[in-house]
Amino acid sequence: MNSLKQIILPAIIALFLCGCSASVSEPAGHLSDYVSTLVGTQSDFTFSTGNTYPAIALPWGMNFWTPMTSQREQDGWAYQYGAHKITGFKQTHQPSPWINDYGAFSIMPFNGTAEGKPSSWFSHKSEEARPYYYRVYLADYDITVEITPTERAAVMRFTFPESASSCIAINPYQDGVVIAARRTAMGYSVQNHGGVPEGFRNHFLIEADAPLMEPFATTRGQVVTLYVASSFISPEQAALNLEEVKGRGFDEVCAAAQARWDEILGRIRVAGGTDDQYRTFYSCLYRSVLFPRKFYEIGADGQPVHYSPYNGQVEPGYLYTDTGFWDTFRALFPLLNLVYPDVNAEIQAGLANIARENDFLPEWASPGHRNCMVGNNSAAVVADAAVQGITSREDLEVLYKALVHASENVHPTVGSSGRTGHEYYNNLGYIPYDVGINENVARTLEYAYDDWCIAQVARLLDRPQEEIERFEKRSQNWRNVFDPESRLMRGRNQDGSFQEPFSPYKWGDAFTEGNAWHYTWSVFHDVPGLVSAMGGEAAFTQMLDSVFRVPPIYDDSYYGYRIHEITEMQVADMGNYAHGNQPAQHMLYLYDWTSEPRKGQHYIRETMNRLYSSAPDGYCGDEDNGQTSAWYVFSALGFYPVCPASGQYAAGSPLFRKADITLPGNQHILIEAPGNGPDCPYVRSIRLNGSALDHPFLDIATLKKGGKLVYEME
Ligand code: CA
Repeated sequence: MNSLKQIILPAIIALFLCGCSASVSEPAGHLSDYVSTLVGTQSDFTFSTGNTYPAIALPWGMNFWTPMTSQREQDGWAYQYGAHKITGFKQTHQPSPWINDYGAFSIMPFNGTAEGKPSSWFSHKSEEARPYYYRVYLADYDITVEITPTERAAVMRFTFPESASSCIAINPYQDGVVIAARRTAMGYSVQNHGGVPEGFRNHFLIEADAPLMEPFATTRGQVVTLYVASSFISPEQAALNLEEVKGRGFDEVCAAAQARWDEILGRIRVAGGTDDQYRTFYSCLYRSVLFPRKFYEIGADGQPVHYSPYNGQVEPGYLYTDTGFWDTFRALFPLLNLVYPDVNAEIQAGLANIARENDFLPEWASPGHRNCMVGNNSAAVVADAAVQGITSREDLEVLYKALVHASENVHPTVGSSGRTGHEYYNNLGYIPYDVGINENVARTLEYAYDDWCIAQVARLLDRPQEEIERFEKRSQNWRNVFDPESRLMRGRNQDGSFQEPFSPYKWGDAFTEGNAWHYTWSVFHDVPGLVSAMGGEAAFTQMLDSVFRVPPIYDDSYYGYRIHEITEMQVADMGNYAHGNQPAQHMLYLYDWTSEPRKGQHYIRETMNRLYSSAPDGYCGDEDNGQTSAWYVFSALGFYPVCPASGQYAAGSPLFRKADITLPGNQHILIEAPGNGPDCPYVRSIRLNGSALDHPFLDIATLKKGGKLVYEME
């Protein structure tokens, strides 16, 4: 017996200590079935766990569909997890409840004589919410609704009960029009909240195998199939777009949609984690490949063509929209550049088209210019793609001209496109606190980084040296709003004195949706400069530590109420670290510039494990068009793009024991962390293709050649 114990016990202990010898678990079946589209839907105006809706769509698809629970058609919170009633099924283009929708219309089956608008009780127990397939049971009508998408069309399948008065309602919204002629309906939606020129229309076309917008008799179990498509260009183009689904059955379209999702999600295959982690990872990857969405269509000649929300004309070529660069320059676009560069090549071509169609690139597009947020971060979006060789030379020349133009101008009607305060910034080196321009320090910091990005593009295009130097010099303007006394960024008056009184806990005012503790780190391109400005590595580390040690106190006097981002920081129990909003999301990785990257690894793991899940409250603030999801995807892989356009990732703490990224040309990046487990976030060393790295940074160009990255965990 003793001898047997001696053999078995050490074996059991070894199994617990180091599962590395055991086989590594993998997601089973379709990756698309690890996705829950309900993550983030348990949100409202006061508190966001994502502020998402269950988008039924193909990756980057022009049209999404969502079930609706809202009673008002203009409600930005169209679907809320806690609601009891379904009020319709909407074609939506909404990027965020704060921006709201455009071109929306909705469809709702019902029976009986509905008093007012039809609506029905439902349960999440009788709902299936996948990217490629949605099903719900409308209890009050005994109707099952199913939806499956293509890029610009969708198929719906309604299963009716026995009824003498079944009906399919179509709501064209606002001043829209719908005309039904028995089994076909056509019309248009003009719904919008800005961002479109005069004459904007979303033309839709619906064909069904039952009458539309009039009662008809159904037998129990009778199935009615609807084919729906739309176009921003014309009714004729809507008919072309309907070809995506015409003549195909629901199940065939659904299988193709699932295959497309499996292919896109399968570009990153993770293994050696738990099912819960796979669900969170693939739900985040799903959110990372929805926006910006296609706004172009395929013309009769097979070529891309688009309605331009910038000049109201139909123009040739690509166009993507519905993203805020203030959010998405950080990790979402870098993720596209790594895993889906073919898609970002189209997005960049679209940006060049925008530059041809009007004087400014958008900073927030939905579908055209929207006045939202600060900065000129289109420069980062252009530069990161350019540095990685994704943009054509011809387009890059056009884009560069637009970037330079934006650095000296502001859009005549949309203050967040171009640069508000450029005169002060370019002459004085910062936007003063006391000249009536809000969020002046945030603007200064982002313009400085954006100038550094422009300098990278200028270098690629062999622009004159003095031009490159002008932008490089301006990229150091962050120093003008750094207060050596508090070691924080701080408002600065026109006469050079710093803002008084100054509270590092004050949200807004000199900053955007954050405070000095959050914005001080926005020197993406010169972290060593920031380290030395703070007084060296020890002081820098202490300041990073302090973010987590100071209590989550706040001053909301600038807003006059506690904005939801403040609440989301408080409830996270990480001091003043605010992962629920974008300005600080790269901060954890700045420990890589100190001798204590372990601290960053600890917090990165804690953030992944505690602030993300696959539940309906699975985010810790606004998801924001893929940005907060892309943070998780990168972090789970073990690195993060602290400074887009630098060609470098900062290493973190990988979540899985294995990951396999398929790059174009069938190159693979294999990531292994054999000793990994839930309680060991710490990395002892990293080897790339067998060579140990002597610093925690990864060269993207080297990585993209393919190879193996091995994290040795402590
Ligand atoms: Ca946000």
